[in-house]
Amino acid sequence: MILFTEKELKEINEKILLYYEENGRSLPWRDQGDFYSVWLSEIMSQQTRMEVVVDYYLRFKEALPEIEDLAQVEEGRLLKLWEGLGYYNRARNLKKAAQVLVNSPGPLPSTYEDLMALPGIGPYTAAAILSMVYHKPYVALDGNLIRVFTRLLAYEGDVGTAQSKRDLEDFGLSIIGQDPSSFNQGLMDLASAICRPKGQALCGDCPLKDFCQAYKKDQVEDFPVKAKKKPRKVVHRSLFLLTKRGRLAFRKRPKKGLLAGQWEIPGLDQALTLEDAKRILLERDIFYEEIQEGPSYKHIFSHVEWRIQSYLVDLKDLPLVRDSAGEERYFSSREIQEEVAVPSAFSPLVDFWMEREEKNEGRL
Ligand code: SF4
Repeated sequence: MILFTEKELKEINEKILLYYEENGRSLPWRDQGDFYSVWLSEIMSQQTRMEVVVDYYLRFKEALPEIEDLAQVEEGRLLKLWEGLGYYNRARNLKKAAQVLVNSPGPLPSTYEDLMALPGIGPYTAAAILSMVYHKPYVALDGNLIRVFTRLLAYEGDVGTAQSKRDLEDFGLSIIGQDPSSFNQGLMDLASAICRPKGQALCGDCPLKDFCQAYKKDQVEDFPVKAKKKPRKVVHRSLFLLTKRGRLAFRKRPKKGLLAGQWEIPGLDQALTLEDAKRILLERDIFYEEIQEGPSYKHIFSHVEWRIQSYLVDLKDLPLVRDSAGEERYFSSREIQEEVAVPSAFSPLVDFWMEREEKNEGRL
């Protein structure tokens, strides 16, 4: 599978390290390089662009500077710090792992097995920590490195399979050299600035072009090879912005599944017309002064797509909160801003409602 001579493998390594030395991005966790900084930044960077991560990272570290602070943080505050990054289980797992670390005697984990035993740490994050914190020879094989490696090798296998991951990891290990931290970070930076996806690769500027099989064959865009995914499930949702006296209704989602345990705008998994919506509210003894259509949009998760139609419902009065467990609540704008981590699936609705509230206040 490895197509290069020993000498070429060494040259590829040197080109990557030189690229990192001359072009490496300046990122706050890189200056620190300690366990907590690398771990946090790697978890935040999953599914999120690096420019976005930097602000979140700085805010998070300022609020929770030590692993002990993370272990003790109250869940609402944690999710507020994470608001907008999505995939909130990542934040919950960070806290769970911090609690394990704080309650374990001895030094922080520094082996693959010990890291993989922590909540939320998978092969990629374990490899990133081992290489960047402990300088051990592990390849942090994420989508970026997969792109560069499959192009260098013109690798034909489907990158979704375990065999492909093993092949690409072996290739990475054959070029990793004596500085695994700079190697992985250099490749991450090169993947993001030069070996870019979707027709944006800047091969002319690439230090690896003399070795790159895909470039030589003029097939850069054919790699990585990915088997077609199943289409996403489409769910039609009708959501109700139930409002009165500057407050908006939220309810907690079920403890398991999508957006588990988070606040949501209440509604039903059905496409309702305005007439249906009126009928359903009255059937549930929810009396309103006025109802009108609100924003409609799509929100895409990895396996599900929500097609949302909202209805803005000016209630006759705030219903008594029926549920003593606090699973349904009416929040003011200030409370939403300070206390509620609004999942991005509902942000357009909350923004819409807040804008209307501001206008209403202006009129008073
Ligand atoms: S030559 Fe092009 S495809 Fe090959 S590694 Fe460099 S940027 Fe990627």
